[in-house]
Amino acid sequence: MVAQVIDGKAFAAKVRAQVADQVAKLKEENGITPGLAVVLVGEDPASQVYVRSKGKMTVEVGMNSYEHKLDVDTSEEDLLALVDKLNNDPAVHGILVQLPLPKHLNEDLVINSIDPAKDVDGFHISNVGLLGTGQKSMVPCTPLGCLMMLRDHHGSLSGMDAVVIGRSNIVGKPMAQLLLGDSCTVTIAHSRTKDLPDVVRRADIVVAAVGRPEMVPGDWIKEGATVIDVGINRIERDGKNKLVGDVDYASAAERAGAITPVPGGVGPMTIACLLANTLTACCRVNGLPEPEGLTA
Ligand code: NDP
Repeated sequence: MVAQVIDGKAFAAKVRAQVADQVAKLKEENGITPGLAVVLVGEDPASQVYVRSKGKMTVEVGMNSYEHKLDVDTSEEDLLALVDKLNNDPAVHGILVQLPLPKHLNEDLVINSIDPAKDVDGFHISNVGLLGTGQKSMVPCTPLGCLMMLRDHHGSLSGMDAVVIGRSNIVGKPMAQLLLGDSCTVTIAHSRTKDLPDVVRRADIVVAAVGRPEMVPGDWIKEGATVIDVGINRIERDGKNKLVGDVDYASAAERAGAITPVPGGVGPMTIACLLANTLTACCRVNGLPEPEGLTA
C-alpha cells in the first residue's frame, strides 16, 4: 500500500481562508475586528521566527496583531502586569505568551494569569479541566490541528483504536482527550511503555509526539493505519540540515493508509488553529455563533 499524503500546508491554507471569510463578515456585520496579542520575552531565535510568522498570518486573515517584545531579564511582576493589561483590553481577544520563558519566570504562574477566555493556546488550567471533562474550552492548537486533519480524512473517528506516543501537556495529553471526545479507544504511550512496537501495531490512528528523529519505523505501523507525525527534529544528513518527524516517513508510507509529511504536515496547522482559536474567542465574548468546523 502507498499512503495518501495528508497535505497540512494545503489544509492550513483552507482553514486560514475560512477564518479570513469569517473575520470579514464580523467586521462588516458587527463592526468587530478580532485581535491577537503575542508576548515574547527574550531573543530565542526559534521563538522569534514563530512570533514573526504568527504576526504576519494574523494580519493576512484581517485580524489585528499586537506584538509585545520584552527584554530577557523582564521581571515576573512586569510580565504579569502586561498580561493583566491585555486581559482587560477589549480590543484583544486572544493572548499568547510564547514558550519557553526564561528560567527566572514561572511559566505555570504566567499562563494561569491569562484570562481563560483569551487563552488561545489552551494551556490555562481552567481550559485543561474543561477539555478533560468534555466541556467547551480553548483547545491547544497543535492537537486541534491534528484532530481537524483526522476528521477531514475519516469523517467519523468513532470506535477507532488510537495510540498517542508522548504525554506532554501541550500535545500528547490534550490529543488523547480530543480523540477520546471523538469516541476513539485511546492508548497513551510514553518512555516507560512496555513493548511500544506492539502497542503501535494495534492502532488505526498513530499520533507521534516524541521529539526523536524517525523513531517509529514502518514495520510498527498497521497496514492501512493513519499516521499523524507531530515531531519536528532538525538533523544533519549527507552534510545538509534537514527537518524530519518522529516517524520514518519512507518506510511508514509503504504501510500506512494516510500519513502527514514533515515538513508540511502538522506544523502549518498549528498557526492556522491559533487564528481559528482567536476567532472563536472573539465570537464567544461577543455572544455570536462560533465558526463551524474550526473548534473541537
Ligand atoms: P516533550 O518532550 O514535552 O514530550 C515528549 C514525550 O515523548 C514525553 O511524554 C516522553 O515520555 C515521550 N518519549 C520520549 N522518548 C520516548 C520513547 N523512546 N518512547 C516513547 N515515548 C517517548 O515534547 P512535546 O510534546 O512538546 O513535543 C513533541 C514533538 O512535537 C517535538 O518534536 C516537538 O518539536 C514537536 N512539536 C511540534 C509542534 C508542531 O507545531 N508541529 C508543536 C509542538 C511540538 P515521558 O513523559 O515518559 O518522558
